[in-house]
Amino acid sequence: MSDIIRLLPDSVANQIAAGEVIQRPASVIKELVENAVDAGASSISIIIKDAGRTLIQVVDNGSGMSDTDARMAFERHATSKIKNADDLFALRTMGFRGEALASIAAIAQIDLRTMLRGASLGTRLLINGSKVESQEPEACVAGTNIMVKNLFFNVPARRKFLKKDSVEMSNIMREFERLALVNTEIEFTLIHNDVTVQQLRRGNLKQRIVELFGKGIDKQIIPINAEVSFVKLSGFVSLPEHARRRNSLQYFFVNGRNMRHPYFHKAVVSCYEHLIAPDVQPNYFINFEVDPATIDVNIHPTKHEIKFEDEKVIWQVLVAAIREALGKFNAVPGIDFDTEGSPEIPTFAPNVRGEHGIDIDPKYNPFTNERGHQSSKPGSMGRNDHHKLVQDWEKLYQNFSANGESQPGNTAGSEEFTVDSVLNQVSSEIDTMGDKFDAIPGIDTAMTTTGVLQIANRYILAPCSEGVMVIDRRRAHIRVLYERFLSLAREHRLSSQHILFPETITLSPADNVVLTSLCPTLTPLGFELSYQGNNKWSIYSAPAELGNVNVAESILSIIALAGETGNEPGDKLYEQLALSMARTAATNSHYNMSDIEAEQLLSDLFSLSTPTYTPDGMTIIATIPLEELSRRL
Ligand code: ADP
Ligand code: MG
Repeated sequence: MSDIIRLLPDSVANQIAAGEVIQRPASVIKELVENAVDAGASSISIIIKDAGRTLIQVVDNGSGMSDTDARMAFERHATSKIKNADDLFALRTMGFRGEALASIAAIAQIDLRTMLRGASLGTRLLINGSKVESQEPEACVAGTNIMVKNLFFNVPARRKFLKKDSVEMSNIMREFERLALVNTEIEFTLIHNDVTVQQLRRGNLKQRIVELFGKGIDKQIIPINAEVSFVKLSGFVSLPEHARRRNSLQYFFVNGRNMRHPYFHKAVVSCYEHLIAPDVQPNYFINFEVDPATIDVNIHPTKHEIKFEDEKVIWQVLVAAIREALGKFNAVPGIDFDTEGSPEIPTFAPNVRGEHGIDIDPKYNPFTNERGHQSSKPGSMGRNDHHKLVQDWEKLYQNFSANGESQPGNTAGSEEFTVDSVLNQVSSEIDTMGDKFDAIPGIDTAMTTTGVLQIANRYILAPCSEGVMVIDRRRAHIRVLYERFLSLAREHRLSSQHILFPETITLSPADNVVLTSLCPTLTPLGFELSYQGNNKWSIYSAPAELGNVNVAESILSIIALAGETGNEPGDKLYEQLALSMARTAATNSHYNMSDIEAEQLLSDLFSLSTPTYTPDGMTIIATIPLEELSRRL
């Protein structure tokens, strides 16, 4: 009988380990950048070719390595970051497992140049699939410059599993964003196929967020802060009206490390319950600082999942901090609408959690009885609850008017809009608007119904069985136009219109990459663009449906939306295009809409399957129940 068990050669063991740590080019970038961060770099450049397939190079100005360390670094379990198991509970570094470089070297070709700070000569090391080919002294700059070439060259199965470049590139961008967000004091450059895709200066978290995700986000997020003995929380969360339907930006960091944490994610989302539509998600960037001894980073090789000792109490601190921030910015109305089970006319669902500890049945609707008809009694609710509800109604309308964002160019935003003011205007504004204007996009004036009233060019009032509906006019128009443009776009039936004076736009390098890849998809949609070099584009034609709006603006908003979604063309692009066209073409409060147009708008709106929210999740319709009217009159 012969023995059959033997130890695997290191190169094989390393390849197996690589399977866990290195899944795709983005994982290599994560490991190399984390090493540069651990080496104390203040500037890191990432240079890639072909979405990282042929080259991933990371250059840092950190500590550098000695000749011997440079070689040692590629051995399995070789690390300078921990010495014994106790160190695992006092981790301040990203790395500690000592397996990233060994894993990467097992599945790629390495060309490393490194020099210690203050030394006069560095070293250059070449490795090919775990095998050291050469090491020689070399004159180089202090820090480390590592090239990883031909990833998975010796593992055809893994190479085959790589996705197309645009997908790998979008994974790289996501990883880059995460790394850049936790290391705001480090300057980053990202170059892909010789194009500078990102260049980030040192700054604070807010500045970094703006650099990465655009100026607009500045006004969409509010700060959160909380400090107790076992955790310090800081960061930003989105205002409810800026929650997103897709590709929301959701980041948790703990002690300078990114993490996924489904439990804390739930905590954040719970703070937005009843504030946002069910199909949108808040953005958040939340930093946890804790004693390293109270977390376990070592539950997965990629270290993305982290276990906290005090999860339940941290949950409470987190929720309190977010609630406070939202409250401070008046983002919390007492109630919201529930679209479920009410296809035509929205029903009213009060906020179930009374601030005074009163628990209310969430399913219970005080304004309908079991058969869905209006009831004249507040039902089983106590007097106090009912009183609270009424106050909440008033809060709701205040919020409606505070939401000026959805109405670009609207100057009437500061106007008070309370139940009282609506009721007053209802009784005084009997006159018709009078003036007739040209037909506006999306509204066919041929058909009429009866009885609507417009207020301040912003709201349309219409009677309904439950009382009076208040419809945000611009949002309703956006919803109606969106559906129309979406079906035209899907069928490539948007008609192209020549622009009299071609517009020129100059883009950032990152936007330029996005537009270049979008171009073939935009042409069948009626856009005619040509590249002028130097990130400049000329626009010759645009879909006629856009009307007389600023074409450059809409191209920019398409780029912004496409950038968010990793610019995968297809139906998403149509949705983006339709939404940005609807936003630019929808009327704002400067437009005097005739009542006939307003009626048509409503009839178009109610023929849709989802009339209650705009495509980006804003409430379109509020209902003032009969009870409220009779209480006041
Ligand atoms: P770990 O980061 O877990 O220690 P790695 O395999 O990623 O394991 O790196 C091994 C060692 O190589 C590190 O502990 C560090 O001493 C050294 N090293 C790696 N990258 C760099 C770098 N960019 N600058 C200086 N030292 C580095
Ligand atoms: Mg490492």
